[in-house]
Amino acid sequence: MRQFLIMLLCAALFLCFTAQAEERPLYVKAVDDLPEDFIFGMDVSSVIALEKAGIRYKDKTGAERDLFGLLKENGVDWIRVRVWVDPFDAEGHGFGGGNNDLATAVLIGQRAKAAGQKLLVDFHYSDFWADPSKQQAPRAWEGMDIDTKAEALYQYTLESLTALKEAGADVGMVQIGNETNGKLCGETGWAGIIALMKAGSRAVRETLPEAKIAAHFTNPENKNALISWSKVLQSSHLDYDVFATSYYPYWHGTLDNLTSVLSAVKKETGKDVMVAETSYAWTLEDGDFSGNTIGEGGTYEHPWTFSVQGQANAVRDVTEAVVKAGGIGVFYWEGAWVPTGGSTWEENHRLWETYGTGWASSYAGVYDPDDAGKYYGGSACDNQAMFDFDARALDSLAVFRLMREGQDAPVVPEALEDAAAEIRIGSPLTLPDTVEAVMTDNSRAAVPVEWDQEILGNISTDREGEYKVPGTASGLPALCRVTVTLPNYLRNGGFEDEDVSMWRVTDLGDTSQLYREEKSVDSLEGKAHWHFYTASADTVRFTLEQDVKGAPAGTYNYAISVMGGDCGEQTVYAYVLVNGAEIGRSETSFTKWNEWHTASVEGITIAEGDRVTVGLYVACAGPGAWGKIDKAEFK
Ligand code: CA
Repeated sequence: MRQFLIMLLCAALFLCFTAQAEERPLYVKAVDDLPEDFIFGMDVSSVIALEKAGIRYKDKTGAERDLFGLLKENGVDWIRVRVWVDPFDAEGHGFGGGNNDLATAVLIGQRAKAAGQKLLVDFHYSDFWADPSKQQAPRAWEGMDIDTKAEALYQYTLESLTALKEAGADVGMVQIGNETNGKLCGETGWAGIIALMKAGSRAVRETLPEAKIAAHFTNPENKNALISWSKVLQSSHLDYDVFATSYYPYWHGTLDNLTSVLSAVKKETGKDVMVAETSYAWTLEDGDFSGNTIGEGGTYEHPWTFSVQGQANAVRDVTEAVVKAGGIGVFYWEGAWVPTGGSTWEENHRLWETYGTGWASSYAGVYDPDDAGKYYGGSACDNQAMFDFDARALDSLAVFRLMREGQDAPVVPEALEDAAAEIRIGSPLTLPDTVEAVMTDNSRAAVPVEWDQEILGNISTDREGEYKVPGTASGLPALCRVTVTLPNYLRNGGFEDEDVSMWRVTDLGDTSQLYREEKSVDSLEGKAHWHFYTASADTVRFTLEQDVKGAPAGTYNYAISVMGGDCGEQTVYAYVLVNGAEIGRSETSFTKWNEWHTASVEGITIAEGDRVTVGLYVACAGPGAWGKIDKAEFK
C-alpha cells in the first residue's frame, strides 16, 4: 500500500512538472512608445481554400473558433488579402495559393468586417504570384499598350473595390502592386510602372476616399535601392500614403538597417512607412510533405530560436524596429497557412489540386510554365504560421496583444548553442563546463553543462578523430563537437589570407620583390605563398618570423617549405627561438621550379609562459634569384 502511494506521488509530481513546462508563459517585453493606433495585421489569404479543404482553426485550448475572431481577440485588428485577376485555367481549375480571386477577397473582407477588422487589399495585378522575380500581366491584359493597360487596371481596381465596399468589407488600405521592385504587371521601366500605379491610385481615391494607398517593395537590406525607388515615386508625383516593404529576417538585413531604411524613406518622402509582410519559423519541421523555405541545414540568418517563443520574439522585435522608425504598422504574412492535411504526399497533393491550398497547383502551368508548372506543390511556409500543424493556435499568436503592456515571465534558457572543443593529440580531454544558452528574452547566457561521461570515456586522444558528445544543461539537450587533432599554432601559415601582419619580415639586404603572392601554380598548398626575387647579385638577405600564440605547454614540431631557383651560393634555414634564444635550426635550399623542400625543427619542448618565435633565414647571391615559401606549421 505504501509503495503504491509513493508511486502515485511520483506520478503526480511528474505530471506537475511536465504541465508546468508546457504552461510556461510567453515572455513578451513591452514595445516602448508603441502608438495606440499602431496597425497589427495578418495576411490570411489562404483561409477560404483551407476551410473548403476541411481545416478548422482552434484556439490554444483546442476549441474550434472562427479564425478572424480569434485573431481579433489576440490584437490583430487588420487582415490583408492578395487579389489575383483570374487565377483559373479555361476549365475553371484554380492555380493554387488560395485561388485568390476577387470573390475570395470579398468573402475574407466580409469575415474580417464581422470580426471588427479592417482590410488591406493587396492587388498583385497579375493572374498569380507577383514578386521581384515575377510581375506578369494578367492574360486578359497581355499585349496591351501602356495606355490601354492603365485603363484596364483602373477599371479593374474600381470594380473590385466597389464590389468589396458593396459587400460590406471595411477596406482601410489598398496596395497598388505587390513587391514592385522595378517591375509591375509586365512593365519593366519606371515610366510604365508609374503610369499603372497612378491608374490604380486614381481608382482607389474615387472609390474609397478614406482608404490609404500603399506602394509595396522588398529587399530592405538594399537600403539605397529602396530610397531611390521612394524618390522615383516622389518625383513622379504619385498620389499615395504609405511606403511599405517586406521584411523577412533570414535575408533582409538587420533590424537596425530596417529602422534606418524606413526612417530615411519617411524623411525623404514625408509618407507613412510600414512592414507589409514578415514571418518567422516556430519549428524547422515540415507539416505537409512539401519542403519549406526555412528548414534544416539552410544558410540564412536566424536571429531568434526556431521555437514558439522565438517566433514571438521576432514579431516583437520587428515591431520595435518599425516603431523606432516612426512606422504605422506590421503585417504578419500567411500566419494561418497550415498544412492541408493527409498523412501522405498523395493525399496532400489531391487536396492542393482540388482546393488550391498549396503554393501552386499543376493547373498554374498554363500561366507560369517555368516555375509553378514544374514545381507546383504544398506550403513552403507551414512552419511559419502562428498555428501548429493541426491548426491550433500557438502561444505566440498572443504577442500582438501582449506587446502593448508586455508579459513578465521567468527568463530561462530556450535553446542551447552547440559547443566545440579542439583537443591536441596526446593532451588531456577537457570539455567546456558551460554552454551558451539562448534565453526566452533572446539574451545569451553561459549555463553549466553535464557531459555524457560514458561517451566521453570512449574517446581516444592518441589519434585524430571527430566525436559528438551529448550532454544536459538547464534540462535541455546539449552537444559538444570534439575534434582530436594536431592544430597548427601558426596563423596564416599558408599565406592564404591577405592580412600577413602576423608575419614579421626583416629585409637585411636589398631584395627587389618581397611580398605575399597569389599564384596557385607556384604555391605548395592553396593559391598563395610568400615570394622573393632580386634583379642584381648578392642582395637577397631577409628573415620571415612569427611569434607563436596560444600553444599550451608540450612538445612540438616546426616545418616550413621552400621552392625556387637561380639562387647561386645560398644560406637558408628554419629556426626556433624560445625566450629569445635559438634552440634549433634546420638547413634547406632553393633548387629549381616545382621542387619543394621542407625544413623542420622537431621535438621543441615548451613550458607554460614561454615566448616562442619561429623563422626562416634566406641569404643568396643572384642575379635573378627567386623563391617561394609556403605551408609553415607549428604543431
Ligand atoms: Ca511544407
